[in-house]
Amino acid sequence: MTSTLIPRTADYEVKLTAEHETLRNTIRDFAEKKIRPIAAQIDHNNKIPPDLITQIAKLGLSAITYKEEYGGLNADLLSMVIALEELARVSAACSTVFVASHLVSEPINEWGNEEQKKRYLVPMVAGDKIGAHAMTEPGAGSDVAGIKSTAKLHGTHWEITGRKMFITNGEIADYYLVFARTSPAPSKAERHKGLSAFIVERGTEGFQVGSKIETTGLRGSQPSELILDRVRVPKDNLLGKEGDGFYIGVKTYDRGRIDVSAQGVGISQAAYEAAVSYAQTRTSFDSPLIEFQQVQYKLAEMAIGLHTARLLTYWAASLKDQGKDFVKAASIAKVTATETAEKLALQAMMIHGGYGVATEYPVERFLRDSQIIKTYEGTNDIQRLTIAKQLLRELKR
Ligand SMILES: Cc1cc2nc3c(=O)[nH]c(=O)nc-3n(C[C@H](O)[C@H](O)[C@H](O)COP(=O)(O)OP(=O)(O)OC[C@H]3O[C@@H](n4cnc5c(N)ncnc54)[C@H](O)[C@@H]3O)c2cc1C
Repeated sequence: MTSTLIPRTADYEVKLTAEHETLRNTIRDFAEKKIRPIAAQIDHNNKIPPDLITQIAKLGLSAITYKEEYGGLNADLLSMVIALEELARVSAACSTVFVASHLVSEPINEWGNEEQKKRYLVPMVAGDKIGAHAMTEPGAGSDVAGIKSTAKLHGTHWEITGRKMFITNGEIADYYLVFARTSPAPSKAERHKGLSAFIVERGTEGFQVGSKIETTGLRGSQPSELILDRVRVPKDNLLGKEGDGFYIGVKTYDRGRIDVSAQGVGISQAAYEAAVSYAQTRTSFDSPLIEFQQVQYKLAEMAIGLHTARLLTYWAASLKDQGKDFVKAASIAKVTATETAEKLALQAMMIHGGYGVATEYPVERFLRDSQIIKTYEGTNDIQRLTIAKQLLRELKR
């Protein structure tokens, strides 16, 4: 057998500390008190109160992984995962706002120069500004290299023209990370070349937030269309080097899908708790549901899925925190956690019987939310491709 296929014990290290537990309790406490009472309303009205977003940001959700010199908490990705998991357990929509905003603050932190970090990262970390990541277009989602937006340099400014689709936080963001083509692809095989990333401030002339896209799940964090008509941004708002756009996007998603995995764990946890609680209180044939072996079997299956999803997500985050190759682990965690969320939501609905499809119960929301996390930041089909590509690479080593 090829030795690269045999795991090393050291690659499975997950170190959870008392600080992680304190963080979990803080976020859980906040979510129970401030979000739970309005979670159904957020879904129903398709709107998160703006002051709630600010409160969550100020709680540290926008600051966890950043260095103290930018106002951050200097904590690890595992901490971020735990915080997102706790938020998603109560309202996946609320967690989405931060998952999406990190897709702007993370690349600025990674590829931004000092000036860009001071101007854009610091207010985002402080929780005063929100970001929106604008890659997807009407004609290109999975195929990032297929985007058609263009940016042309005119002296001191770039002029960006194009349309973006499904942009989370589109309506509420202050800063947008917009991807556009700055030079033609040299060849079909190199179509990923020639893309660049730009920081665009809300209110820039020619920049318009288009229609809100109504979706089945994650209601409250609804995505929007963005229209860019010769939007002029200063030359200095190019992130990284010209032509680095594809790399910046793809690397950002590698890490971002660990955040999405955390959302899957949070939804799975919520479905599990709802199912156990309902099975204990609902009686049928003069017995609580939990007395029936078939119900117990379903709960056991749910426990298996939940713990698998959580451990894989913590594993992926830990690999990243240790500076190890985490790309395959992130894709494995994303597929497992998001598909577990769907499976557990369905099982929780079955245990709830007719009430499982009643909108006054939260379980049907878990199913709707789970559909979107399977899709964004790379569909699960694309994750499977990534896992296979990594395997082929390992075989060549
Ligand atoms: C609620 C929501 C929020 C979003 N937020 C953002 C955001 O903030 N910023 C942003 O830029 N984008 C965002 N997106 C877009 C999201 O990332 C894309 O929808 C996703 O990447 C899929 O792209 P697509 O919709 O164009 O589908 P397509 O790429 O057209 O794919 C359609 C289907 O074909 C499959 N497929 C495509 N290519 C392959 C292949 N090579 N092999 C096998 N199967 C393939 C896909 O898995 C999928 O099942 C959001 C989407 C949603 C639904």
